Amino acid sequence: MLVELGEDPLREGLLNTPMRVEKALRFLTSGYTADVDTVLNDALFTVDYNEMVIVKDIDFYSLCEHHLLPFFGRCHIAYIPQGRVIGLSKIPRLVEVFARRLQIQERMTNQIAETVREKIQPLGVAVVCEATHLCMSMRGVEKQNSFALTSSMLGTFQSDARTRMEFLELIKRPVLTGSLGGGASLLSATPVPAAGCSST
Ligand SMILES: [Zn+2]
Repeated sequence: MLVELGEDPLREGLLNTPMRVEKALRFLTSGYTADVDTVLNDALFTVDYNEMVIVKDIDFYSLCEHHLLPFFGRCHIAYIPQGRVIGLSKIPRLVEVFARRLQIQERMTNQIAETVREKIQPLGVAVVCEATHLCMSMRGVEKQNSFALTSSMLGTFQSDARTRMEFLELIKRPVLTGSLGGGASLLSATPVPAAGCSST
């Protein structure tokens, strides 16, 4: 790759770059070899609790499969248990399993929701991911303040508008100033149309 870019791979600063890049990529795609059951190991509990559980603002970093460039942001997860819950600390780990792969944001969002459904059979699951895609902000359309919002609503979150609204209200907050553009309310901001990054 260095040669193709017109670089001298024997230049001092680049000597160890192939090794570093390989190491970085192996880490950034370590989700392929992670096992969900191992990650959730001993953290599925039987509990008499059937109100909404929300874990919000889970930071994630992933790589878009079209450009191998990062997309990163936050993920918010809610579910309504039906006798079983997941240890709260395991939920960010679950996000990592699917973020550390070559991804598209839509699929990652669905995979997280489907996995929660499969593992604890809750009454409903909701996942919302908001992300900045470097393939959009550094190149191509160069929409530097745009970000993509994706959601997956299963069970009661899909069938019951009030449950869905309650979740969306609870995760709503002012966007952090800076990269996402200050001031605007997160969920009223204009999301980038699905497809996330363009595949051009
Ligand atoms: Zn991309």
